[in-house]
Amino acid sequence: MAHVSDLIATNIDEYLHQHEHKSLLRFITCGSVDDGKSTLIGRLLYESKMLFEDQLAAVEADSKKWGTQGGEIDFALLVDGLAAEREQGITIDVAYRFFSTDKRKFIVADTPGHEQYTRNMITGASTADVAVILVDARRGVLTQTRRHSYLVSLIGIRKVVLAINKMDLMGYSETVFRQIEDQYREFAKQIGLTDITAMPLSALRGDNMLAHSEHMPWYRGPTLMGFLETVDLDETRRQAGTFRLPVQWVNRPNLDFRGFAGTIASGQVKPGDRIRAQPSGRESTVARIVTADGDLAVAVAGQSITLTLDDEIDISRGDVISAAQAPAEVADQFEATIVWMADEPMLPGRPYLLKIGTRTVTATITEPKYKVNVNTLEHLAAKKLDLNEIGVCNVSLDRVVAFDAYTANRETGGFILIDRMSNHTVGAGMLHFALRRAHNIHLQHVDVDKAARAAQKHQKPCVLWLTGLSGAGKSTIANLVEKRLHAMGKHSYLLDGDNVRHGLNRDLGFTEADRVENVRRVAEVAKLMVDAGLIVITAFISPFRAERAMARGLVQDGEFLEIHVDTPLEVAETRDVKGLYRKARRGELANFTGIDSPYEAPENPELRVNTVDATPEACAEQVIARMQALGLLDD
Ligand code: ADP
Repeated sequence: MAHVSDLIATNIDEYLHQHEHKSLLRFITCGSVDDGKSTLIGRLLYESKMLFEDQLAAVEADSKKWGTQGGEIDFALLVDGLAAEREQGITIDVAYRFFSTDKRKFIVADTPGHEQYTRNMITGASTADVAVILVDARRGVLTQTRRHSYLVSLIGIRKVVLAINKMDLMGYSETVFRQIEDQYREFAKQIGLTDITAMPLSALRGDNMLAHSEHMPWYRGPTLMGFLETVDLDETRRQAGTFRLPVQWVNRPNLDFRGFAGTIASGQVKPGDRIRAQPSGRESTVARIVTADGDLAVAVAGQSITLTLDDEIDISRGDVISAAQAPAEVADQFEATIVWMADEPMLPGRPYLLKIGTRTVTATITEPKYKVNVNTLEHLAAKKLDLNEIGVCNVSLDRVVAFDAYTANRETGGFILIDRMSNHTVGAGMLHFALRRAHNIHLQHVDVDKAARAAQKHQKPCVLWLTGLSGAGKSTIANLVEKRLHAMGKHSYLLDGDNVRHGLNRDLGFTEADRVENVRRVAEVAKLMVDAGLIVITAFISPFRAERAMARGLVQDGEFLEIHVDTPLEVAETRDVKGLYRKARRGELANFTGIDSPYEAPENPELRVNTVDATPEACAEQVIARMQALGLLDD
């Protein structure tokens, strides 16, 4: 490293130039604390002498305090520091550490090893070129080695270093090393990992870390640092792929210029290339590649550019520009692997936001097919996915998107799921393929439409969505409202638990998942009835905001009135019309809203009625008045 410091002293510009033009390798380390992960990372950081200043200062201060000198003790302190730091942030974070050598810059994602931190590992691995999987030579391949490897293959990392550590404690035995290597390769084959470099190491003593170990002359492969400094970057592979540009924004400073800006996800592009805009399918030819530093003759994966085209075709943010001869696929239903990362379980039927490339759409998981036991790779039946679980599911989107299979392209085949209310990332997914039925859906065009049906009835169709606790008064008020509407000559229909739970939804119970599905079906029926021109009144507890938002999203703006029948739990419980609260309190009724299942009150309902101070009739009157105010009873 000395000559680097020399260069800093003699020619700082040249040093900075070299530093800036070094390639960047991202890698992840997997293993538990006992396997020596901190020691391994500490050794790489220490040897590269590129510690952050504060880390260096801390190490120096500590060694002064203990009155010690020399490399070994500094190194030990550094490792302790790393381990302590990670333990503090253990449940939330992936620690990213940066170091650099003459040849390359590195970012290492250091993730906790336990099973409950699957999500952290997925986060750390999502951009990595290489995974370093640590094995303790005394213990060999463990369940967690298999789990880490499965996650690594799932996330699409192709290059694995099997770092067989603590060789010093096994007498640097070649037999031990070979046995572990063979055992691992056998397993790795089953999960599609083939590019494996096994290395016998002692991170603590530095064997085969930077220099070849004199204790293991039988090993002729690369040292860990040597490998990391020279291994092909994933970027090289991405650049060799087919051209994909997810459009981040449309740049239109004036009428003469219209450019499509984004970061190239894979492949390369040059002026004159034929492209296809997706999902629309329209084609054109690349005119210019514009960047802040002038036009380019060619641009490759990883570069941020603006493309202009020969024709004025319609492309918007979120579209994908693909090579015309090898375009992405387009579909709205897929099979995908999903890693669930939220405390709240993933429920089929619940709407989530799905972000793929630069596009965000609404998605529902229609059918979890199975979940995977990450320790045994066994497939298990699943109705939902809990935190850190991994499942294969069918996913349905509210519109078509351009995509590639994740195995072909990590950039255009990966997605994240976001909670619509909290905006938190709740899952990560990898697309497998489009479902065949997705290619065959064509909405039937009809001449007699909603407007025609509504006009014939002289009314404005809408949904009056009553929500509130059991016994709040939903059915009572809904009934009175319907009577009023009927008297006014309006055509209406009341959907409530009785006519739905006994028929359409008789297969559903009261688990959270079943409740979500119950509301989804009611919302879909309400939507069809609105399309039929009716005023639909629904009276369901519908405790979750997400489902009510979904129901709202199914009809047009202005057609959905969320009405909170706002009765406090104490009052509803005292009324106890159906004796259900008593049953629930006795523990004979599980998942009862307000008792052992949550009710999420509406934040911005169109109307809130207070049943404590008003009679049922007065409440119904408020509903009618609100409809009038919104112009829904004008006709
Ligand atoms: P839900 O459909 O919300 O479970 P119900 O309508 O079946 O509730 O029961 C509500 C009970 O509360 C009825 O017995 C009703 O007479 C009584 N109640 C008292 N005041 C009101 C009010 N202002 N609005 C609606 N119901 C009321």
